[in-house]
Amino acid sequence: MTGARLWSMISAVVQRRDRLPTNTPGDFFVDASCIDCDTCRWMAPTVFDRAEEQSRVHHQPANDAELAAARLALVACPTASIRTEAKHDLAAARAAFPLLVAEDVFHCGYHSESSIGATSYLVRRPAERGGNVLVDSPRWSRALVARLEELGGVRTLFLTHVDDVAEHARFAAHFPAERVMHAGDAVPGIERVLEGLEPVELDPELRVVPTPGHTAGSACLAYRGKFLFSGDHLAWSESRGHLYAFRSATWFDWDVQIDSMERLARERFEWVLPGHGWRAHVPAADMPAAMRRCIEWMRAH
Ligand code: SF4
Repeated sequence: MTGARLWSMISAVVQRRDRLPTNTPGDFFVDASCIDCDTCRWMAPTVFDRAEEQSRVHHQPANDAELAAARLALVACPTASIRTEAKHDLAAARAAFPLLVAEDVFHCGYHSESSIGATSYLVRRPAERGGNVLVDSPRWSRALVARLEELGGVRTLFLTHVDDVAEHARFAAHFPAERVMHAGDAVPGIERVLEGLEPVELDPELRVVPTPGHTAGSACLAYRGKFLFSGDHLAWSESRGHLYAFRSATWFDWDVQIDSMERLARERFEWVLPGHGWRAHVPAADMPAAMRRCIEWMRAH
């Protein structure tokens, strides 16, 4: 039996077993193992959307850009829930991560199921400026680790909160990296534990802003007054059209989170790069108004 024939038979069995009926017909589909983490929807919104509390393919990739985005989402998916009927060469998609966001900030891809698919980021900096920073933990992947090594390794692993630590110990031991986390959420083994509500300068470019609310020890990391790694404290709502917080996923205290948002609004940044949800890029001059809109929405909910 040829390899192509065998692949075709396996694909047919898989599709019968768990292809979600909400998918549009065609090559790409989402299967029943989807954990609704949202990753594919913000990575490739023209291909994936949400139906019945899971993702689905609402439109098959129709050009090179959509195909590339769908393949990247397939590699990033934490549960391997994105499948194809045809066999695809995914080498380019695997090698694309870490994927440039802007300047020296990258999206690591390879989301981890243990963090419910949270996004991890890499800040690439020369050693004399303190070296590379990994924000939250991706899943362990030999391909990703090799790319991180090529890009200079990881000096600091900043963990925004307890939900998104994934394989932090393995990454910290491998590179090795110093893990930084707030005491309110700190897990065993963290090398540098921060306390209190006052911002902490890790170095001239990195400023930790404690933002309890989603969890007791949630914290954001501001980089060069431009990029804010916001964990699960703050994200863009595509449907609402403004910055918001996860009201239905507040594990600690909503009122405390509103206070944290007020303090965060005093910081300077223009990119919001969340663990879950959509990223946002707002001109720095407009960010205060965007944060006020967010806080007003929070007070009303
Ligand atoms: S990335 Fe995977 S698990 Fe997450 S919503 Fe998409 S299909 Fe589901």
